[in-house]
Amino acid sequence: MNNEKKKNSKTKVKNKRTTPLINLCIFTLPGCNVTEKEIKQQVDLATKIWKIQFVITSITMLKDFSVRTNDTSFRTKQSKNIKRLFNERKYLFPNPNSISIFYTSARHLSNNTTGRSFSSLMTKSRFNHIILTKSSLENTLAHELGHILFYSHRKLQGKNPDANSYRTHSLDSKNIMFGTATTRKWKTTSLQRTKALESTLIKYM
Ligand SMILES: [Zn+2]
Repeated sequence: MNNEKKKNSKTKVKNKRTTPLINLCIFTLPGCNVTEKEIKQQVDLATKIWKIQFVITSITMLKDFSVRTNDTSFRTKQSKNIKRLFNERKYLFPNPNSISIFYTSARHLSNNTTGRSFSSLMTKSRFNHIILTKSSLENTLAHELGHILFYSHRKLQGKNPDANSYRTHSLDSKNIMFGTATTRKWKTTSLQRTKALESTLIKYM
């Protein structure tokens, strides 16, 4: 009886130590109207979807920053506002190991997108950023994190690994990497989860 108990607790410790995790450095901008509870719900959902522990290391309010609705920033072509935002992150938290998440008051970004990822491969820096908007859904963060995971994979370069894909997106409307924003996407395939774990951003507890 005693022995078995010991064995169990040992297994638990081992499991805990091998939990894959990624740190998130959160920023809220004026007018974003997101509550801490909502942020935590989105992070928990992403954790459930990817089976990777996403950990909030900080939530920082940025008072004098904004992102405009229809901001056309893309890859290395970023607007002044977004460049300022990325520089501020670098200044406040110089360690690039966590992904920056910016909650903004923009209604959407160009092409009506609800969120956008800027991987280090795109920005040619060591940092990975995600910009969310007022039209972001609860699962938008999980979707954008998926992009960052696949961009930080040495071979995928952002591509969704499934056969049923078009470039970075899944063609399965229930898959989290489906290209259109919908509340019904939440699935990941085991291939996606395996590749996600190969991301260079993954750490172990
Ligand atoms: Zn996408």
